[in-house]
Amino acid sequence: MHMASSLISKVAKAKMYAAEPERLQFHSFALTVRGDNDTHTVTFQEGVWDCTCKGFHEDHFCAHTMAVERILSVTIPQSLRQGEPFDASGIHQV
Ligand SMILES: [Zn+2]
Repeated sequence: MHMASSLISKVAKAKMYAAEPERLQFHSFALTVRGDNDTHTVTFQEGVWDCTCKGFHEDHFCAHTMAVERILSVTIPQSLRQGEPFDASGIHQV
């Protein structure tokens, strides 16, 4: 009986947390993005973005990191979001 009510309350909290995704904040992750020409690895390690593609190393952002950020949205800490649109200097807006 107790187990069942405990599970119900956990599920209710999980639903509430999932409905407010800004409660989740990523610190580190790695994933692959299957691009049109190649598959690239995007990493986010303690707030530092990286991608294995050439474009990232030229501009410090790329379509792959931007796509990941669009998906993860508010779960990326606000000060570490690359943001769109970028200003003319290429500096990421907070
Ligand atoms: Zn890239």
